[in-house]
Amino acid sequence: MAALTEFFSHLYTMTVVFFTLLLLEIVILIRSITGGASDSEKRLITTTQYLKFIEEKNPTTIYSTTSSSRVDPSSNECTVCLSELEEGEKVRKLKCKHTFHKDCLDRWLQQYWATCPLCRTKVLPDEIVANYHRLQNQVEYDGSDEEMMFLLSALHDNSLHRLF
Ligand SMILES: [Zn+2]
Ligand SMILES: [Zn+2]
Repeated sequence: MAALTEFFSHLYTMTVVFFTLLLLEIVILIRSITGGASDSEKRLITTTQYLKFIEEKNPTTIYSTTSSSRVDPSSNECTVCLSELEEGEKVRKLKCKHTFHKDCLDRWLQQYWATCPLCRTKVLPDEIVANYHRLQNQVEYDGSDEEMMFLLSALHDNSLHRLF
């Protein structure tokens, strides 16, 4: 009977350790999905918000060969993909009067600093771009979570060794 009690107390300890670890892992998983929720991170800008800023500043238009945008001879070619702008395509015309495919420009603005691919005129305020790139860097490489993962795996090994 004593052996049975010992077995159950052993089982109980194992269960407690198991659920503590499970809880920790869930917290880390949520943290990695939401990109953290501390105050300093709240001001970071997601891709959706970033694209919305671009759209607000430079609304998408439908390219038309008859529109006044053709006055500048360089504006009928998208210099990102180096192909000609076709009638009816979705384009974005920047403040500097340069026109690009909407998709080409959006991809460009996400990968590089938010400047016109042709003349380097700023498309968005520095602060927005900086906040956006900070979030992107954090999603790709988060040192703090890696440290926590390391601690957790060490804890895993220790508790299992102690139990068996
Ligand atoms: Zn293009
Ligand atoms: Zn330009």
